[in-house]
Amino acid sequence: MLQWLREGHDRFLQGHSLHPHCTRERMRAVVEGQHPRAAVLGCADSRVPVELLFDSGFGDLFVVRNAGTMSTTAAIASLEYAVGHLDVPLIVVLGHEACGAVAAALHPELLLTPSLAQVVGQLRMELLQFGSHMSLEESCRHHTLSAAGNLVHSSVLLTDRLRAGLLAVVAGYYDLHSSAIEWMGHVEPIQYPGPAAAGSPTG
Ligand SMILES: [Zn+2]
Repeated sequence: MLQWLREGHDRFLQGHSLHPHCTRERMRAVVEGQHPRAAVLGCADSRVPVELLFDSGFGDLFVVRNAGTMSTTAAIASLEYAVGHLDVPLIVVLGHEACGAVAAALHPELLLTPSLAQVVGQLRMELLQFGSHMSLEESCRHHTLSAAGNLVHSSVLLTDRLRAGLLAVVAGYYDLHSSAIEWMGHVEPIQYPGPAAAGSPTG
């Protein structure tokens, strides 16, 4: 399925978008039910229009967007629905260059509303793991990988599907200048220690 996304993105990059599945006929064809080919967690940023980046249309992609590409409870629930009920086999976590939410996280002096402060504070704590002197570019890249990992590791359903080989979760980084998506790799499921590795109780 990733190949299908790559092909759509290549068409977009080369200026040869086909704009498939964008007619009312297609809309009528999917009224009775949706069978999206992949899900995407992306940023609400107006420069990251997911369907256009992958040259796709009605019914093709299950897209969840919020400021900062955050694995919020609502985002996790939405993607669990896509995977658990719509059998989507692939989630792309799409971060991007010059993300405003990430930029805000690098500026603790900003005055924010309570809701924004919650999101930005979460981002700031996440980024502090990687050091306190990262550039915006480095921070956006780290956050993309963290967001993909956080998504999987916050969900038993997604972790189980990943471990069973029924789901792939891939991180992608969208460069605003080149309009190209750089694929950053798959998320590996956490391997729980088996009985032999768990050690024996003491005391
Ligand atoms: Zn953003």
